[in-house]
Amino acid sequence: MALAEDETEAWRGRARRWAEAELAPIVEEMDRSDRAPSDLTRRLGSAGFFGLGQPRDWGGGGESTRTVVAVLEELARVSSVAAVETAVHLSVAAAPLARWGTDAQREQYLRPLLAGRALGAFALTEPEAGSNAAALRCRYRWEGDTAVLQGTKTFITNGAVADLLLLFATRDPAEGRGGITAFLVPKGTPGLRASHSFSKLGLRGSPTYELTLDEVRLPRSLQLGPEGRGLGIALEALMGAGWASPPALSVSLGPGSKSWRAAVRA
Ligand SMILES: Cc1cc2nc3c(=O)[nH]c(=O)nc-3n(C[C@H](O)[C@H](O)[C@H](O)COP(=O)(O)OP(=O)(O)OC[C@H]3O[C@@H](n4cnc5c(N)ncnc54)[C@H](O)[C@@H]3O)c2cc1C
Repeated sequence: MALAEDETEAWRGRARRWAEAELAPIVEEMDRSDRAPSDLTRRLGSAGFFGLGQPRDWGGGGESTRTVVAVLEELARVSSVAAVETAVHLSVAAAPLARWGTDAQREQYLRPLLAGRALGAFALTEPEAGSNAAALRCRYRWEGDTAVLQGTKTFITNGAVADLLLLFATRDPAEGRGGITAFLVPKGTPGLRASHSFSKLGLRGSPTYELTLDEVRLPRSLQLGPEGRGLGIALEALMGAGWASPPALSVSLGPGSKSWRAAVRA
């Protein structure tokens, strides 16, 4: 128990010092310009945040959920943009790949994510399928061993800049949740493009994209998990499977405690 607390407090202190040194000087400009510095992702990765809590076998640090939450809280206390980027990467890109990937997929795609050399993103939402993700319309069909994808994804954090998308498509919308399959889509795959990015009131500097897929061709080796199990994979990741609480939600704690302290001081 003492060791676990030591780990959490050591990481908390490290994240706090890092955020004060690296993020505090740039947050106002990020908010004003709605742009993050182009090397923010590389710096987050180099600081070791992109492997937190992930399996050691594939280069992760294996830290406790408490530690991951503490780090996200410290990042978010200074910059929600940095915390959201890290939380999305860890919880809905790296974690489902670690859990459902084949060893070949983990070797090729998970290792670089956990080493901080690559950024992951998650593409579930569509213009007509938000809360009701089972209604998604992005289609795939098999041509031999190639899945051909067609559709639109929206509100995708880091969608156009991430190195790897975890993306969900359906064989046939009439099949409902049973038709949905998860795919890995590497950056630069022909037919995948960002149609636009959104200007937001909050989280300014965290890029949120609409993506179109036009005859995107993926080999079967990029299917993640069993065919037809995609929605379960997505919801499990969103609910924070394997974590005591969804990391994406823990980023709210940072701004919350900062606001509380400011209100008490005022
Ligand atoms: C900044 C930002 C970043 C995002 N990043 C990503 C990302 O990286 N990847 C991704 O896939 N998606 C992302 N999203 C999309 C996000 O997951 C969706 O916005 C969310 O799923 C809600 O969908 P919606 O916006 O279509 O709202 P809706 O589903 O239209 O919901 C609107 C409102 O209605 C309520 N509501 C919906 N259905 C019901 C019901 N049956 N009963 C009662 N109330 C209901 C909801 O709670 C909500 O308050 C992002 C969104 C934002 C704003």
